[in-house]
Amino acid sequence: MLAITGPQDYASVMSAVHKALPPARNKFLDLVPDTGVKLTPKHYAYLKISEGCNHRCSFCIIPSMRGDLVSRPVDQVLIEAEKLVKGGVKELLVISQDTSAYGVDVRYAEREWRGKQYRTRMTELCEGLSELGVWTRLHYVYPYPHVDEVMPLMAEGKILPYLDIPFQHASPRILKLMKRPGNVDKTLERIQNWRRHVPDLTIRSTFIVGFPGETDAEFNELLDFLREAELDRVGAFAYSPVDGAKANELPGQVDEELKEDRLEQFMAVQAEISAAKLQRKVGKTIRVLVDEIDADGAWGRSSADAPEIDGAVRIDDGQLLKAGQFVDVVVEEADAHDLYGRLA
Ligand code: SF4
Repeated sequence: MLAITGPQDYASVMSAVHKALPPARNKFLDLVPDTGVKLTPKHYAYLKISEGCNHRCSFCIIPSMRGDLVSRPVDQVLIEAEKLVKGGVKELLVISQDTSAYGVDVRYAEREWRGKQYRTRMTELCEGLSELGVWTRLHYVYPYPHVDEVMPLMAEGKILPYLDIPFQHASPRILKLMKRPGNVDKTLERIQNWRRHVPDLTIRSTFIVGFPGETDAEFNELLDFLREAELDRVGAFAYSPVDGAKANELPGQVDEELKEDRLEQFMAVQAEISAAKLQRKVGKTIRVLVDEIDADGAWGRSSADAPEIDGAVRIDDGQLLKAGQFVDVVVEEADAHDLYGRLA
């Protein structure tokens, strides 16, 4: 026997199994952070909806190793989500290599769940997940036009007003070299449009600086985009070649020192944007999911904070809270990453 769990406590069963038999991991390919499913606290879980990818970004080897997109049927994903929620999960983190492409490989096949038909498609998946009454957070979304369809669900509070969109760059020429969609004006227009519909939308993104051939002017285009888009959460990496990636053959590899210098500049610009945006939350009351309790208070996250990658909310009087509990917090202070407050 590995563990004694409650009835339908799927999360604990999986945790015990993974403790006894850790799943093989590949740090280059797995989407789940290195903490893995086994160490994910009981109150949130990663929900993988597909494997592989139809894109061919020049810096990435995932498609050559994992193949083209293979979507899990929507009913299977919803059944897994339902089990996780029955097991105590309060937040589902939808992951894939390209969430917005979900179902394209199966022509958006229709499946039945709880007596209702759902298409294997991002919007319909979100509608199904919203029936579960927990937080749903979308990761790895491309800014395609059909992403507009999930805005009403966010505006109605059915899924979290949060989008993780890895833009990677903002110079059309660099995006073309990366083999990624390159219409930056359309992207900015789309972001503004989303924010009109969902004013509290959090947009998270990742970028690569120092991609082969990136000039000073193109790097500045990226900084201009950052200032104009006012993204909420941003991660950035200095470009580093991956064995087997097409981008390694591109001319004009950027000097390491220059890459680091650009990364520093990029992060400084973003820290200013982030600090200003978080400052606007001071005085507001926000919903927080509690993650950890210590002797001096508790740490939790709001709709704007995905676990592991974003900031957090410190609750100064949260000593008696429990992990997995939802509470309202009045924000009293903010820095460039985190918020600090007290129970409302
Ligand atoms: S980086 Fe590009 S090719 Fe690689 S998984 Fe993401 S979308 Fe697919």
